[in-house]
Amino acid sequence: MKVVIVGGGIGGMTLACKLAVGGIIAHVYDSAPRLEPIGLGVNLLPHAGKVMQAIGVIDEIAQRSVETYESTFFNRFGQHIYSEPAGRHAGYDLPQYSVHRGDLHQPMLHRFIELAGAERVHTGHRCVGFEQDADGVTVHFHDTATDAPLPSVRCDVLIAADGIHSVIRKQLHPGEGDPVYSGVNMWRGAVVHKPFLHGANMVRLGWLKTGKLVLYPIRNDVDGQGNQLVNWVVEIETPKYKAKRDWNKEGSIDDFIGAFEGMHFDWLDVPALLRGTQKILEYPMVDQDPLPFWTSGRVTLIGDAAHPMYPRGSNGACQAIIDGDVLGRALLGAADPRDALEAYEAERRPATTRVVLTNRSTPPDIILKEVFDRTGDKPFEDIDMVISPEELAELSNNYKKIAGFDRERLATAGAN
Ligand SMILES: Cc1cc2nc3c(=O)[nH]c(=O)nc-3n(C[C@H](O)[C@H](O)[C@H](O)COP(=O)(O)OP(=O)(O)OC[C@H]3O[C@@H](n4cnc5c(N)ncnc54)[C@H](O)[C@@H]3O)c2cc1C
Repeated sequence: MKVVIVGGGIGGMTLACKLAVGGIIAHVYDSAPRLEPIGLGVNLLPHAGKVMQAIGVIDEIAQRSVETYESTFFNRFGQHIYSEPAGRHAGYDLPQYSVHRGDLHQPMLHRFIELAGAERVHTGHRCVGFEQDADGVTVHFHDTATDAPLPSVRCDVLIAADGIHSVIRKQLHPGEGDPVYSGVNMWRGAVVHKPFLHGANMVRLGWLKTGKLVLYPIRNDVDGQGNQLVNWVVEIETPKYKAKRDWNKEGSIDDFIGAFEGMHFDWLDVPALLRGTQKILEYPMVDQDPLPFWTSGRVTLIGDAAHPMYPRGSNGACQAIIDGDVLGRALLGAADPRDALEAYEAERRPATTRVVLTNRSTPPDIILKEVFDRTGDKPFEDIDMVISPEELAELSNNYKKIAGFDRERLATAGAN
């Protein structure tokens, strides 16, 4: 079976590795001139970690990342709201890893090259469309640097893993508009900083109306003096946003630092941490309405191409990884690839639709909103008088069930 994967990001590389481990050597095409370790922090939750374990890269990821100890919520006055253990500390059989996107991506790329050979990775190939007939698919490419057409490629199956601005999604759904802005703008960066709290906390602080901050370390001891690389994301309600989402657009600290000026806590000086960041990126929080279908004959979508979602609850990368795993398993077991694509979609489209919609309405950081609303954005005397620990735990656990990583389910399921 000749499989072409367009997009060698997180989802595409997961699928390529899964197939290669099972004996199908795919071709991966990417528009980037080189597949470099770019991006900032992501979180690898235990269910996605199982997939990395199955394809043989978990040890390398573990070495490069920080094993998350707990998830911790504060209001903007630095008052502690709630903490819950993460990964192995919460009883999962695998840790949660907070990791630089490049430290997740590169081990997969190297593993694929080890199994398949470097000639199976075709960079500088920007996909511009496809056509299919009863026997196969023809995929068209342009040279990224010159925009000149490149030879088209014939295959049995085409997988679109080409991310948030997928051209293959556009071809399958020509009437669809661009990703929809949520009304929240985001800035992000990474800075070398001394460890705070347990040195492995995923902290969520404040709320969107006045300024929310998510921060967590992603690399340990980056300078031989025990300092960590700390990833942060600022989210603030911002009614209008004109530019297109671009993972590499530079942002300015002046646009958001005002919201964090007073936050000098005994465990962290927030404005100092933000000011210490050399390069700040900016991007709007966007998603798209769930699609009525992903598959047409021999073509299907995975990852952000299939279900762009708000980056809440550590799901952008994890859901793409689960897609790659489920689709890989289906293709490896199928006599006719078209059946495999249908089976994959039947499993993954309803599941990811629930995550997209829940990330709009009740993501895990809804805990912060509850406290913000109930206190009228004022400091509290006693958090138990505002919201009970049981209610907080329930809000968190409901989300895990919807996103597919509640402990009960994972205890009974392996990677596919
Ligand atoms: C440069 C970059 C930086 C990122 N940084 C972060 C981050 O810091 N934190 C975070 O949470 N998420 C980040 N993401 C997004 C995150 O990787 C995805 O949301 C998630 O992992 C889903 O993965 P995906 O494989 O669907 O998409 P992606 O990982 O975005 O991969 C899509 C791939 O498709 C390629 N591509 C796009 N269009 C075409 C085309 N027409 N032809 C061929 N190839 C194409 C891209 O070059 C890319 O390699 C980043 C994505 C990119 C591309």
